[in-house]
Amino acid sequence: MITIDNIHKSFGNVEVLKGVSLEVKAGEVVCLIGPSGSGKSTVLRCVNGLESYDDGEISINNRRVDSEQKDINELRTRVGMVFQRFNLFPHRSVVENVMEGPVYVKNEPRQQARQHAIELLEKVGLGDKVDAYPQSLSGGQQQRVAIARALAMRPDAILFDEPTSALDPELVGDVLKVMRDLAEEGMTMVVVTHEMSFAKEVADRVCFLYGGEIVEEGVAKTVLSAPQHERTQDFLKRVL
Ligand code: ATP
Ligand code: MG
Repeated sequence: MITIDNIHKSFGNVEVLKGVSLEVKAGEVVCLIGPSGSGKSTVLRCVNGLESYDDGEISINNRRVDSEQKDINELRTRVGMVFQRFNLFPHRSVVENVMEGPVYVKNEPRQQARQHAIELLEKVGLGDKVDAYPQSLSGGQQQRVAIARALAMRPDAILFDEPTSALDPELVGDVLKVMRDLAEEGMTMVVVTHEMSFAKEVADRVCFLYGGEIVEEGVAKTVLSAPQHERTQDFLKRVL
């Protein structure tokens, strides 16, 4: 589904991705973990075309994501992204935020997009917030709107970049539950997270990124319980 083959990326003369390769199969959940600055966000941003890469190749469903992607909207309909900050439109209601992409990017009829958006809001537990405005919602509710918004495009895969890091601790669980449900339904997901218990329970695989390289990769439970690489051991000691 997602193939990342030996990508390199520099900012100025600093190489921040030094040959990252990762294969994510349909229905798989892969967690990317690693210290701050190791390149986790940059990997995700290259996959959905927010960032160009210098060398190597990324493809999604056998179609290449060019480093100078021309039709960025087409790519974003195939790969959703959920960020640490939810970036909802403040002056649009919740349902309008969710409908936005399908209506403006995919030219879906408004009525159909609205119906689908309401179904997705019910799915993430916000059926009663359809006409609310983002600022009246908690951070956890806003993040669930952001997940519904990503799902509204009917993507092949969703990338999550620390989706719960900005939330108050008591709001994290509801967001992780929605993500766990999605994983169980077979959504292909790449998740950058510091939630190690989520990674252990939900991820099929975990990749540990350090200094722009994947230094350890394997079955989630194995990597997290019995890491082989010294860097992974050090990192997990600090976060667990
Ligand atoms: P964190 O856990 O803090 O989010 P990360 O693993 O996501 O870290 P990245 O954001 O991918 O790390 O950054 C990797 C490296 O690239 C860092 O050294 C960062 O300073 C650098 N970097 C990222 N974006 C840019 C940019 N637009 N310009 C210059 N350097 C950048
Ligand atoms: Mg990051």
